Amino acid sequence: MTALEFSPAFTAELALGAAAVLAAGGYAYAGLWPESQIFGRCVVAAKNPRQIALTYDDGPNDADTYRLLEVLAKHSVRATFFMIGRFVRQRPEIARAVAAAGHLIGNHTMTHPLLLVRPPSVVRQQIGDCNAALEDALGVPVRWFRPPHGGRRPDVLRIARELGLAPVMWNAMGYDWKRTTPEAVEKNILRGFEKNRRRGYATNALLHDGGQAGIGQDRRHTVAATDRLISGWKNDFAARGEVGEFVTPEAWL
Ligand SMILES: [Zn+2]
Repeated sequence: MTALEFSPAFTAELALGAAAVLAAGGYAYAGLWPESQIFGRCVVAAKNPRQIALTYDDGPNDADTYRLLEVLAKHSVRATFFMIGRFVRQRPEIARAVAAAGHLIGNHTMTHPLLLVRPPSVVRQQIGDCNAALEDALGVPVRWFRPPHGGRRPDVLRIARELGLAPVMWNAMGYDWKRTTPEAVEKNILRGFEKNRRRGYATNALLHDGGQAGIGQDRRHTVAATDRLISGWKNDFAARGEVGEFVTPEAWL
């Protein structure tokens, strides 16, 4: 994700509703709006407001991926990491540490292009090369894919499926791909969580343990927000007499 494709104004425009936006520019809606199914089936979230999937994009990233693993281990929460292939090639040991901690790992392309505007040959290479990087690092096939910036079109999803991957989008955003505060990230995710809960849906939270610009991006705000969010959710569910469940997209296929 970057601010470029989802500036607040653009997001607000899309939030006016599918009908209005389809009239104004259906291609942008179908290809970029995270919950759109127009260009093909994507996993978003099940109809179960007690389930939460924490997903982290753009890693592996030294040192914040390791910091995040500590926080998730402290809370015994399993999460999902959509990794950029070129960073996996640079730091395969971080990818292996994520897998060894029991988390789910998915493909986020080799170099994070907006696939919506790339030819099919590039799409296939981007996804295929990332699969190869992950499989070389982990020794097992990858099953999950998140398109960079959420950008897709029917053939992007078809190519992903041909390469053995199920596409995954999201329905809550941390807006944490640039430096911000843990409080702001927490508030952004909780806004999406409350919206999903009102509609009866699980939350699929988009966060970032890395950044497409390179390894070494500061994501301490995301790590701290994760700690606060998990503690808050556990208390919130307990106060309602409910049992919350932290899941991965495997629960929703
Ligand atoms: Zn990304």
